[in-house]
Amino acid sequence: MDQYVVIGHPVSHSKSPAIHAAFARQTGQDLTYQTLQAPLDGFAASVAQLRARGVKGANVTVPFKLEACALADQLTARAAAAGAVNTLSFSPAGVVGDNTDGVGLVTDIVANAGIVITGKRILLLGAGGAARGALLPLLAQGPAQLVIANRRLATAQELLQLAQQFSPGSALEARQLDNLEGRFDLIINATSASLNGSMPTLAASLFAGAELAYDMMYAAVPSAFLCFASQCGVPARDGLGMLVEQAAEAFLLWRGVRPQTAAVLAQMRAELNRTVAA
Ligand code: NDP
Repeated sequence: MDQYVVIGHPVSHSKSPAIHAAFARQTGQDLTYQTLQAPLDGFAASVAQLRARGVKGANVTVPFKLEACALADQLTARAAAAGAVNTLSFSPAGVVGDNTDGVGLVTDIVANAGIVITGKRILLLGAGGAARGALLPLLAQGPAQLVIANRRLATAQELLQLAQQFSPGSALEARQLDNLEGRFDLIINATSASLNGSMPTLAASLFAGAELAYDMMYAAVPSAFLCFASQCGVPARDGLGMLVEQAAEAFLLWRGVRPQTAAVLAQMRAELNRTVAA
């Protein structure tokens, strides 16, 4: 039976085994998918062991996405642009690294939330790994404007330079997170502030008339960012759909078949809600 893993540290909390098991059942694919906690200084050795065992592929999560990028023999364009890899495919010829996070985000926004990105004004908050991974897939949708705002302006400017290489059509800008002004159709929180229960300081006016506020983080209860967006009257969505959609893209890469995600997303949401009720 073909074997897959998710490698991280820590990784026991990962929802990927449940998601991939559901995809495998749905598509009739015969595979196993397990977690592997690699030592913090032992990512490359763990990958070598997996390959020796004949494992076919691995998802990579915190803190190994940059190491996975460096380790891959070959990178897809979106992984090269992101500078980070969340999906490895192993073959005797070598290791191919891909990044499916950004495509997962865009699929969740466009296909699941029904929001058109083409021609819209986007505010991307944060310029870390997740924002970087989202950049190309967002630009591929042809937004009218993309503003990248970060606490450290220099990092936003680095992302801006990357964006300029890939998007001749969109108006692009890098800004400091403080004192942001403007009107946006879609506001995406790719900062990790939500993980600490906080949010960047944002003016309510930024949300006026917005179609969607999206927080890449997901949790059993809405983040401070999503609560703020709701208070501003803007539909709010967390990153659980992004998680499921990035997994679907990885499953497609590995197995050549795209699973249906709606039922799996509903199942994951129900499981997350049960953690609140418990
Ligand atoms: P990184 O550590 O790479 O980047 C963190 C970013 O957040 C930086 O831009 C940093 O700014 C900013 N930041 C951190 N704290 C604050 C704060 N208090 N106020 C303002 N900005 C802040 O993290 P990732 O990019 O990997 O992850 C970002 C988010 O995306 C996390 O919530 C993570 O859970 C989520 N995520 C979700 C996925 C999904 O499938 N749903 C997949 C991957 C990530 P600075 O540069 O100034 O330090």
